Amino acid sequence: MARRIAFGTVEMSGRISTSVQALRNAGYKMTGPRLTILDILEKSGGHITSAELLSLVEQRDPSIGRASVFRTLDLMIKLGIVWTSVQGGSTVHYMLMPGGHHHHIICTNCDKLIEFDDCRLGALISSLEREYGVHVEGHLLELYGLCQDCQDAIREHAGDPEEDTD
Ligand SMILES: [Zn+2]
Ligand SMILES: [Zn+2]
Ligand SMILES: [Zn+2]
Repeated sequence: MARRIAFGTVEMSGRISTSVQALRNAGYKMTGPRLTILDILEKSGGHITSAELLSLVEQRDPSIGRASVFRTLDLMIKLGIVWTSVQGGSTVHYMLMPGGHHHHIICTNCDKLIEFDDCRLGALISSLEREYGVHVEGHLLELYGLCQDCQDAIREHAGDPEEDTD
């Protein structure tokens, strides 16, 4: 699977320090596996599949076993640092949730992920909170569309038959 990741305007160092702070606030120490997994998540633009994560952990520190990786992920999910989703039927994705947010655009043609930080959802969330009497704690915003490369490829392809008819 050749899923490429684009980084958009992601503020990397801000993300990891927010996550470290969230772990510390909940009374957890920054152990090697926790820091390694957070660092890998951060360097992947805050979004990674479980297969990619396991292989990167293995490369970085073979002493961290699979059970330890999943235990650490479970803890981070419980603390709201990481969100999980299943895409494409069976692929599990892990996403950092700095400040409770995660936003991306998925290209429906090539599966490229474009991560972005500024969702501008403040006014919508406030009005939903008033309307439904809830307190919104976080959100995953997923948009679908065609990336620039795929639009260009389709446009080029559309030009081919005319050039070939000579
Ligand atoms: Zn994402
Ligand atoms: Zn694309
Ligand atoms: Zn947001």
